[in-house]
Amino acid sequence: MYETEKQQVIRTALQLKEYHLIALAGGNVSLRIGSHILVTPSGMTYDSLVPDDIIVMTIDGTIVEGERKPSVDTIALLYIFEKLPEVNAIIHTHQVYATAAGLVCDVLPCAVTTLPNATLGEVNVAPYSSAASLEMGIETVKYLNGKRAVILKHHGVVTVGANLKEALYAAVYLEDAAQTFLVARSVGEVPVLNSEQIEAAVEVFRTYGQSVKDEVKQ
Ligand SMILES: [Zn+2]
Repeated sequence: MYETEKQQVIRTALQLKEYHLIALAGGNVSLRIGSHILVTPSGMTYDSLVPDDIIVMTIDGTIVEGERKPSVDTIALLYIFEKLPEVNAIIHTHQVYATAAGLVCDVLPCAVTTLPNATLGEVNVAPYSSAASLEMGIETVKYLNGKRAVILKHHGVVTVGANLKEALYAAVYLEDAAQTFLVARSVGEVPVLNSEQIEAAVEVFRTYGQSVKDEVKQ
């Protein structure tokens, strides 16, 4: 079941690797389809994944298809899906620049327009929570604050979206923005966009590119 969607999940994971946001078997990608959740397996490198490796489960964690052990963060992912019905895709990475920004900031401000384009605004840094814990999901929901990304202090990043494309764009542009921010901050004070400029940046991206209905071809 869900052959096409499983391929989309794998393709998204490979894109994260391509953009250097995940390494080896780190992080995970998950997708909600109706009452089912597709999750990448635990401890498998993304290059090696085939559709049968993707686990299908219900929101309470009951596995309905798949022989693999799901991501260790599944308990957190299911909590996020449960609490945020508008979220259909979750990406978790250990991307370097955004995680680094989370070590020195409580919030990554909008210093460049590409950040609010993809994340809908500044990105909060959630306090430390252990990987593979329910706490990780609770802190994510608490600190997302209507945006598409949150930085988990001492750990990594969670991005969300109505579909995989939104979550992927949030992860990639967050990383770019974090890198730019840290480079600028290393040599001086960083000016940030005002609320009007942020709003305009969010708005412009709503109609950017092709319809998300074309996600299959992304
Ligand atoms: Zn992690």
